[in-house]
Amino acid sequence: MTEEGGESVCWLDRVCPDCGLLVEDVDLPAPCPRCGATVPSDSQERPGELT
Ligand SMILES: [Zn+2]
Repeated sequence: MTEEGGESVCWLDRVCPDCGLLVEDVDLPAPCPRCGATVPSDSQERPGELT
C-alpha cells in the first residue's frame, strides 16, 4: 500500500497559507472562511508540467 502516503499530500494544497485552516468541499482558489486569505489551487495550476 504505497498510496497511503500520497493521499495526505493532496490536503496540503487545501490548507490556508495564512492561518493553516484546512479548506474542504470548495473549488480552489477560494477565500479562507476563517481569515479571508485566498487559498490557491497549486495542484491544478500547472497543466503542462508532466515530469
Ligand atoms: Zn485562513
